[in-house]
Amino acid sequence: MSIEHLFRLDGRVTVVTGAARGIGQCIASVLGQLGATVVLADRLPLVHETAAALAREGIAAEGLVLDVTDRPAVDDAVDGVVARHGRIDAMVANAGWSYEDASVDHSDENWSQALDINLNGVFYVVRRAGRHMVAQKKGAIVALSSIAGVKYVRPEHHVGYDVAKAGVAHMCRVLGCEWAAAGVRVNAVGPGYTDTEMLAEVGRTQPAVLKRWIDDIPMGRLLRREEIASAIAFLLSDAASGMTGQLMMVDAGYSAA
Ligand code: NAD
Repeated sequence: MSIEHLFRLDGRVTVVTGAARGIGQCIASVLGQLGATVVLADRLPLVHETAAALAREGIAAEGLVLDVTDRPAVDDAVDGVVARHGRIDAMVANAGWSYEDASVDHSDENWSQALDINLNGVFYVVRRAGRHMVAQKKGAIVALSSIAGVKYVRPEHHVGYDVAKAGVAHMCRVLGCEWAAAGVRVNAVGPGYTDTEMLAEVGRTQPAVLKRWIDDIPMGRLLRREEIASAIAFLLSDAASGMTGQLMMVDAGYSAA
């Protein structure tokens, strides 16, 4: 088998949550370019336009409106993918939500929502995909953690997000080991500051804050979305067949500094 072949994802039925925009959109595009059939899921109806744009580029893509915190809807959506395609080969639990709220006065709403979307929502999609994959005796899962899940990221205030992202990494360790004998690999990717619309907005409105963040990054720059997406593509591919239960940081050196 050629080494290039190990990195291909031809025909792999793959769900990407939070794929309407941002990093998730880029993940769907990169996986599709590597041959995967991609189901883009997002709570925003925009996901249909995003999927249609990928389809126009020749990618086998379909859009699905799904709120990952809605347990029965998650089960139905994943079961529906298996019913339509005959199996599910890969799941990327990317949907996430962040916020600003100082810890001493932190609202219950933000705490609950942070854990609901970033931790519970990840568990719901991973659990249902894992159920099918364990039965198939094959599958690969990647969930999105963050630099905020491994160290204190200053000067932001979103302790619920940070705790959820740490939980995602540990969820992948536990399930990666639990499902290893069944041929299902589970890993996490931890992005550093990535060049998304959210950071562009910080750059426009608080340039001093963005500069301070970049000053703390050894590479001295933001990550490009493709750099996160290509690490995920690797972890889903057979090139990473020996990896499970890992947190792979893609952070331009931030967590090592
Ligand atoms: P984004 O806000 O641009 O995109 C997140 C997507 O998730 C959106 O399309 C949103 O609609 C969707 N989403 C949110 N809640 C949802 C829900 N309940 N159900 C379904 N979809 C939902 O964010 P992004 O920057 O592209 O981040 C993608 C992932 O990467 C997130 O998990 C985020 O925490 C993580 N991350 C991002 C950065 C960064 O610098 N951008 C850094 C570290 C980690």
